[in-house]
Amino acid sequence: MTKIQPDPSFSLDILPPEISTKLHKQIKGEVLVDAASRGRYATDASIYQQFPIAVVVPKSTDDIAIALEVARNAGIPVLPRGGGTSQCGQTTGTAMVIDNSKYIRNVLHSDLSDPDHATVEVEPGMVLDHLNAQLKKHGLWYPVDVSTAAQATIGGMAGNNSCGSRSIAYGNMVHNVLGIDAWLADGKLASFGSYTQSNGEAKVLGDFVKGLVDSLKPEIEAHWPKVMRRVAGYNLDVFHPQSELPYTLDNSVNLAHLLVGSEGTLAYFKSLKLKLARLPKHKFLGEVNFASFYQAMDSAQHIVKLGPTAVELVDRTMIDLSRNNPAFRKTIETALVDAQAKTVDAILLVEFSGDEHAPLLQKLDDLDALMSDLGLPGSVVKMPDSSMQKNLWEVRKAGLNIMMSLKGDGKPVSFIEDCAVPLEHLANYTQALTEVFSKHGTRGTWYAHASVGTLHVRPILDMRRDGALKMRAIAEEAAELVRKYKGAFSGEHGDGLCRGEWISWQFGPKITQALAQIKERFDPTNLFNPGKIVNPPKMDDSRYFRFPPDYQVIHVEPKLDWSNWNVQNNPVTEVITAAGTGGDPAQGLSKAIEMCNNNGHCRKFDADVMCPSYRITRNEKDLTRGRANTLRLAISGQLSKAQHDAPAHLPLASQAVKEVMGLCVSCKGCKRECPTGVDMAKMKIEFLAQYKERFGHTLRDRLVAYLPKYAPIISSIPGLPALLNLRNRLPIIAKVQEWFTGISAKRSLPEWQAKHFWNQGSLPFVSPEELSKADKRVVLFADTFNSYFENENLQAALTLLKKSGYAIHVAQPSPTSKSRPFCCGRTYLAAGMVEDAKERLSALIDHLAPYANKGIVIVGLEPSCLFTLRDEALTMGLGQPAQVVSEHAFLLEEFLSQELQAKRFSLAFKESRQPILVHGHCHQKAFAAVSPTLELLKLIPNANPQLIESSCCGMAGSFGYEVEHIEASKQMAELSLLPTIRNHPDALVVADGTSCRHQIADGAKRDAVHIAKVLESHIY
Ligand SMILES: Cc1cc2nc3c(=O)[nH]c(=O)nc-3n(C[C@H](O)[C@H](O)[C@H](O)COP(=O)(O)OP(=O)(O)OC[C@H]3O[C@@H](n4cnc5c(N)ncnc54)[C@H](O)[C@@H]3O)c2cc1C
Ligand code: SF4
Ligand code: SF4
Repeated sequence: MTKIQPDPSFSLDILPPEISTKLHKQIKGEVLVDAASRGRYATDASIYQQFPIAVVVPKSTDDIAIALEVARNAGIPVLPRGGGTSQCGQTTGTAMVIDNSKYIRNVLHSDLSDPDHATVEVEPGMVLDHLNAQLKKHGLWYPVDVSTAAQATIGGMAGNNSCGSRSIAYGNMVHNVLGIDAWLADGKLASFGSYTQSNGEAKVLGDFVKGLVDSLKPEIEAHWPKVMRRVAGYNLDVFHPQSELPYTLDNSVNLAHLLVGSEGTLAYFKSLKLKLARLPKHKFLGEVNFASFYQAMDSAQHIVKLGPTAVELVDRTMIDLSRNNPAFRKTIETALVDAQAKTVDAILLVEFSGDEHAPLLQKLDDLDALMSDLGLPGSVVKMPDSSMQKNLWEVRKAGLNIMMSLKGDGKPVSFIEDCAVPLEHLANYTQALTEVFSKHGTRGTWYAHASVGTLHVRPILDMRRDGALKMRAIAEEAAELVRKYKGAFSGEHGDGLCRGEWISWQFGPKITQALAQIKERFDPTNLFNPGKIVNPPKMDDSRYFRFPPDYQVIHVEPKLDWSNWNVQNNPVTEVITAAGTGGDPAQGLSKAIEMCNNNGHCRKFDADVMCPSYRITRNEKDLTRGRANTLRLAISGQLSKAQHDAPAHLPLASQAVKEVMGLCVSCKGCKRECPTGVDMAKMKIEFLAQYKERFGHTLRDRLVAYLPKYAPIISSIPGLPALLNLRNRLPIIAKVQEWFTGISAKRSLPEWQAKHFWNQGSLPFVSPEELSKADKRVVLFADTFNSYFENENLQAALTLLKKSGYAIHVAQPSPTSKSRPFCCGRTYLAAGMVEDAKERLSALIDHLAPYANKGIVIVGLEPSCLFTLRDEALTMGLGQPAQVVSEHAFLLEEFLSQELQAKRFSLAFKESRQPILVHGHCHQKAFAAVSPTLELLKLIPNANPQLIESSCCGMAGSFGYEVEHIEASKQMAELSLLPTIRNHPDALVVADGTSCRHQIADGAKRDAVHIAKVLESHIY
């Protein structure tokens, strides 16, 4: 039988045309063969990269069966894929990647009648959080709570034998999978479940493995780590149990457990039957404070005897990171016995769960008593309050994110981050490994699962330079420690490319040979994910690296200032070098793009913003990660010329990049929510600038960009505003405009106002010196949209501020100058006209800086305009004035809520006749500026303001008006914003964004109102 080769230089690196045609003809889902699409599937959350031969996104299981048949006949390997969040490279391969996550994600069957024996059968692309959201109303959940729950699929979790934070109570995947139906290498389906009831090919395969195990029992006993967290190789121990926690309650054999952890190398899962658990009604947390890290590690073995559902570590680095961050300081202090003490070296978060309060409180008391017995009286903070617990888990997560967002080429690398050792050795193991790091000139932050001896730690390595050498040296020394302490080298994240070579080290030659025999018996032609688990490459084979030694970035002069990313870091102190010193040929742009480490967090669907385009299409190309990968491949010359024909000085100006940027609404959700702070909105400006330089601006670009230029002219010609507004009343005009400009006739446009902000009588020009004499003073920045289309909002803001006693200067050119009103440059940026934006911003900043220098706050009403001062203005080389302005620029409600806290704002408001719903503009959310809106609205009696849990409204400046994007725009709004508004017909909807208000008016036929108007209309 001809074997399929796993080599990255495998000759079949492009799909032969006849196979491509066959796939396109027969598959109802998507078949992606171009370099950019394949490149987006070339990476997972590891350090590796391998271009697939093709990508199939099946619409149904029939599509999968067809794809498997085509691949088998053509001798092309197959790589099943879920969220692609693996950390070891198991989800990369020169293969036909089949992505289950878009369509193959249904619940097939459930039996929830008896909560203690509830089960569910799902397709492999089902995401854990989505399953648990469906189960919640039944008081049930699937308890393998991996940190990537928002994006990990059940198929991928089973493929990796994933483990959650609460594995001490619930076990790993292998403990919670009851059955798997899977395609075998010959295309036949087999059902893997109870061995005694098995039949057909599953039984034959089971018998084969049993035969091997029977002959290897002494080997297994000698080499198999006796810890619960061992995920290396195949689970031979189903037939000769070795785990601390038996795989089945009655120790019977379940053949599905052979497939769990097989990393797509034995069979392709079609469906998985899962064991569910009751959702505990209550969770109580005890935070144990330690003055020494060693002591914390040493205590874990005693704490687990109290029966906690989790024991998670937060180390000194994370405590300090949280303490130094104003947003998290209060929360981390809730976990400290003495909020002021600087002596806490580690905290163990000990969670107890159950249905009754009293026993849980008793558990916390027991924890307290235990710590006293261990010589640490008074070291426990008891936290029964669930919202406080939630905040604390959030802080832990955020601390980790800050760590991951380290700039420079040295990155925290995952390769020994889930070694598991018996708890009695945890303290010595972590101490010794810390010394290993320090010997190799690096350092790691420790976190995670102290309960099961699996602490995560990622030393900082520069994989482009000496990282590979250090990786091997550290791995070898860590392996010695693991052996000394009788642990498991691979304890959570799987083998993949990173740990494959350590399987034979762990198990010895005979067991390794048995694993190869199993692979041979299941998959004689090497169809499934070759080169993983059996015959793996060396972990440091640089042919598989994402950043191999020959990785090169194209020299480019970016349009924006990216120098803050152009730095290097010190792996021990994590101190970064000065901006601009990182040696990036793209002056920081490529390093900003490379911040994406593929962790897949942008695939989430939760209450936050990121990533609206992915939420509506579920396409990898419409995802922040897909965009970052495409940009990386473009700027490092890894895309084919046919697809990426960009000139050398404009490496982003190609159709391949345009395709991924099309649906990016520049919401800045990723800037805030991506753990490494990938700022795609800014990258979109850079792309647009390069693309438009190459292809020129369209009429629509100019209509949008030059609005601040022509708005004053239009408004000054009597009758013209009314004439232009006819466009909204006469469909034929709208249609003609659509033909000429691409602005959709289905949208109403903002209406010009005859009485606009700048023709309502002169606004006093107050100099910075004069204004600073007033006790209460502020500068109001009147943006173009509110000035010419919704003057009433600015008037309301003026009234509100005046009635509150503020002296006001409205930002405007000096009375002697004939210049147009100021503008923030936003519309120019949206069209990629960076130079024009810079010119407009520069004039505005020159005007505002003297006020800011005197400590005077600048308030604005339109979030996208105001936040341009806090964000893009800092990337245009405008120097110190831009910096000082950014520090003083606030939304009206941000300013007023600060004033409220300082007891300088105290207007009384009338009762509201309606409940209030608030939609936060996505830039407002990106800058954490939504809570001030709620705080202020709470001043209105009876308002009871509620935040709509929505992503971006979908309008995104001009995006929602564009004929090619109107449908996508509506879909984004329909995700939750518009349905929520329709479900509250009596509510007053508050929205600060001009385009958000338009989306709501168009889609829900409701008039949303700016907060300035709401507050002003409720003043007594
Ligand atoms: C920040 C971060 C935190 C993480 N935290 C955890 C954690 O707490 N616990 C943990 O265990 N892991 C963790 N991981 C690793 C990873 O997220 C999990 O292993 C996750 O379960 C993988 O799911 P996925 O859908 O992304 O799988 P993928 O990466 O897509 O696939 C994983 C493996 O399963 C195989 N596979 C997928 N579908 C099938 C199928 N239908 N049939 C056969 N094989 C299939 C693939 O070929 C691959 O080998 C973390 C990763 C990151 C980046
Ligand atoms: S863009 Fe951010 S969230 Fe998405 S995969 Fe990359 S690093 Fe993760
Ligand atoms: S800016 Fe918004 S739409 Fe664009 S990638 Fe980021 S989250 Fe997605």
